[in-house]
Amino acid sequence: MQEKIHQIAVTTQTPVDASCPSAINLMGLDRAAMEAFFVDLGEKPFRATQVLKWIHQLGVNDFSEMTNLSKQLRQSLSESCEIRVPDIVSDELSKDGTRKWLLSVPGKSAIEMVFIPEESRGTLCVSSQVGCTLNCSFCATGKQGYNRDLTTAEIIGQVWIAKHLLAAQYQTDDRIISNVVMMGMGEPLLNFENVVSAMHMMQDDFCFGLSKRRITLSTAGVVPKIDALKESCPVSLAVSLHAPNDELRNELVPLNKKYPIADLLAACNRYVEDSARSRITFEYVMLQGVNDELAHAHQLAVLMKQVPSKVNLIPFNTFEGIDYTRSSNSRINRFRDVLHENGVIVTVRKTRGDDIGAACGQLAGDVMDRTRRAEKFKQQQNKIYTKFTQKFGKM
Ligand code: SF4
Repeated sequence: MQEKIHQIAVTTQTPVDASCPSAINLMGLDRAAMEAFFVDLGEKPFRATQVLKWIHQLGVNDFSEMTNLSKQLRQSLSESCEIRVPDIVSDELSKDGTRKWLLSVPGKSAIEMVFIPEESRGTLCVSSQVGCTLNCSFCATGKQGYNRDLTTAEIIGQVWIAKHLLAAQYQTDDRIISNVVMMGMGEPLLNFENVVSAMHMMQDDFCFGLSKRRITLSTAGVVPKIDALKESCPVSLAVSLHAPNDELRNELVPLNKKYPIADLLAACNRYVEDSARSRITFEYVMLQGVNDELAHAHQLAVLMKQVPSKVNLIPFNTFEGIDYTRSSNSRINRFRDVLHENGVIVTVRKTRGDDIGAACGQLAGDVMDRTRRAEKFKQQQNKIYTKFTQKFGKM
């Protein structure tokens, strides 16, 4: 079976006829949905686990190879179903080992996915939407506007593709992806059902078998959905905070106007209450002269005392057309030290993959924007450029 995985890893394309729009994509069915599907066909529910195992553990995407199913069932599945994942447009390897894929999805768009290898683990950063509706001011994805939510098949399909390509790269079927973070393009809690279903498959022993602890969902703070997540799939939670007061957060993360910091922290406390999750990770992008003053660090320390937490400081990764700059190392260190002195657990994220645009905040894909935000962003940048050239001449 090992050879099979490696062979698929090289091709990655599904053999199913793309001209069959009514085919049911079994890639997107979690265990409950797969069981219901087979019961509807008049089959026993255990067929679900057999097929999940073929698809996700063994990387088989051709029904004719599922040899523990009857010939008749294989034939009927190949006539009415498919096993489809997004197509790979590009595959780049950073000098630090980070690997980034651009994947095309229907709707003339493309999303990005990143794998970050480390000594003791390998983290896959997965996208949940084509673009994002939230428009955080420092985020490349936000500037691209929004097209649509990804389907469950397109979300779990990213893990499927990465698993098999990485098996080929590292020449092993050992668990290369030890952690998955829902931190790619999009706000995962605004695509709740599909994301939760995909996260169930990440945990399912017949699919990818990751523990809840090794799956992290990162949100800008969609408060009601944090409560819903606790009920349906309580994975590790990260919150994109980025500012220690509402006034500044309203600017950086506009969603804050709807769900201010006090409401967000209350939801975080409810999330960790009576659960195995011991603390929430708060992400804080370091923007020079914007949110990196000592006063901000002191304000943040006060907030962090209100919830079991740790802070992850993220040096800003720039992208074309944005005015923010990364805080200097000395400012980041000073900020970290204030938090530390105030008893806050704090780490500084190491920048990875920035030479291929794969670092945190740089993911952009290719979004057929429905919001006109991308166009407005370009117009705004053109105006700034015109003003600049009028003053200083052409660059
Ligand atoms: S930071 Fe996250 S929530 Fe904000 S615009 Fe970017 S992708 Fe969307």
